[in-house]
Parts: sequence; C-alpha cells; structure tokens
Amino acid sequence: MCIFCKIVNNEIPSDKVYEDEKMIIIKDINPQAKKHYLMIPKAHFADITEMSKENALLMADCFMKLATMVDELGLEDGFRLVSNKGVNGCQTVPHLHIHILGGEKLDDKMC
Ligand code: AMP
Ligand code: ZN
Repeated sequence: MCIFCKIVNNEIPSDKVYEDEKMIIIKDINPQAKKHYLMIPKAHFADITEMSKENALLMADCFMKLATMVDELGLEDGFRLVSNKGVNGCQTVPHLHIHILGGEKLDDKMC
C-alpha cells in the first residue's frame, strides 16, 4: 500500500485539515510555501495518465469542494495548484495528489 493510502487509512499520522468520503487535505510535511497542503483523493491512482471517467468526476468534486475552502485555508490572496508526474516532474509519491501552495507571494517562475 502506498504512503498516501496509509495516510488515508490512518495507518500513518498526518496533519489533516479536511476529510470527506472522497478525499483528504493534509499539511505537507516539508512545506515549500507558508501554506502548503496536499489534496489527496482516497481512491488510489498514480497520476492523471491513469485517470478514469469515474476518477475524473471524483476529482471534479474535490476541486469544487476546495473552491469553497479558500478562505478557511488562508488562501484568500491567491494560491498555486501543482501536480507532479513521473521522473521529470519529480513525483515522489505515486498516488495522485494536488499541491496547494500559498499564504505568501510565490515565485513568479514556476520552478
Ligand atoms: P510529490 O513529490 O509531488 O510526489 O509530492 C509528495 C509530497 O508529499 C512532498 O511534498 C512531501 O513533502 C509530501 N509528503 C511525503 N510524506 C508525507 C507525509 N507523511 N505527510 C505529509 N506530507 C508528506
Ligand atoms: Zn495510494
């Protein structure tokens, strides 16, 4: 089982800020910005190349929920969403997740 599946199943502790039947949002253990969350669907699939119609609908629900949480996450002044894929994208956890970065002005270069 991958590390994010273990976090979803509470086998590994995490700093969870939100949970519903479809996803969790946790604080990244190694923050790259003042606010750095990970939006993690509970269903395991590695990245968007493994996206099914069902999982695409699931992600739509996740993004719609996230859109309602901007203020409570302290992201009212803006944020950046990132999802890394594969070696060139420097993905380290092969379970799709969306980085949510904000809480300060980010670099105008994306990497
Ligand atoms: P990526 O490199 O895009 O696959 O992102 C994986 C992210 O997961 C990194 O930003 C890590 O800091 C983060 N991470 C790894 N393990 C944990 C954990 N146990 N709790 C919270 N974040 C984690
Ligand atoms: Zn997983």
